[in-house]
Amino acid sequence: MPELPEVEVTRRRLEPLLVGRTIESVRTTAPSYFFLTPPATLRRALAGRRVEKLERRGKYLVATLDDASRLLLHLGMTGQLFSSAVTSPRLLRASARAILAPEAQARFTPDEHTHLRIAFADGGPEVWMRDARKFGKVQWLAPGASSERLDRLGEDALAASGAALFAASRQRRVAIKNLLLDQAVLAGTGNIYADEALCGAGVRPARAAGRTTRAECDRIARALVRVLERSIETGGSSISDYVAPDGSDGAYQDERRVYARAGEPCHACGARIRRIVLGQRSAHYCPRCQA
Ligand SMILES: [Zn+2]
Repeated sequence: MPELPEVEVTRRRLEPLLVGRTIESVRTTAPSYFFLTPPATLRRALAGRRVEKLERRGKYLVATLDDASRLLLHLGMTGQLFSSAVTSPRLLRASARAILAPEAQARFTPDEHTHLRIAFADGGPEVWMRDARKFGKVQWLAPGASSERLDRLGEDALAASGAALFAASRQRRVAIKNLLLDQAVLAGTGNIYADEALCGAGVRPARAAGRTTRAECDRIARALVRVLERSIETGGSSISDYVAPDGSDGAYQDERRVYARAGEPCHACGARIRRIVLGQRSAHYCPRCQA
């Protein structure tokens, strides 16, 4: 599952491939649940438009076009966005399955999973979106049209602030971990990052959100931004479930302090990391370092 850091890394790599270029034509696969906007509409709406900017909201990529319409892209579980001229496997966001190995990707020709092929008027490299499992999404928003998907997102996790978290958590009995995962509170926070941030802040994941102090909220927000930024720096691979296209797992395990380390010793105090289930998702913490 791509987390915020992989989406941000994808955004940074795609930005120079999209912004300032004029779309000549778009080729798509047949209508399917991958397309929130019918492919024929998409092809018509995008042709001739210049891309003005590429932003990220939570795990969505949002391209603004020169007529003020917008293109929303979501990678889902196995989505990959890359250039037809790709030479580095780093350009591919990999997930556990359905990924292209570097040697396959270097000579990749669009297949039945390549749902979007954007060609540009300058005749340069195309941008392709491939998704073998089609949990990804593509949507075109007409000028001025709002998006339910974007409107319900809270503050971006990369801009998390203790003040906002403190305000959102007052009178809330929900576990602090689940509050962090609420996309209406903090857009883009994933399971791994919530666990790691709570560990960094010394707060147990099951604690009622309303029982965190202002100082703890500050620590949680700072720790969350820190782990996300660290993961972005390393191409989304240091802390997340990212698996490189060549199957290697990089150095990510070295940086995880609690996530998926149940039964192993805490790096700080040696106590065994515990795993509990909160709202049907696992949570990991150190019983000695986190209160
Ligand atoms: Zn500990």
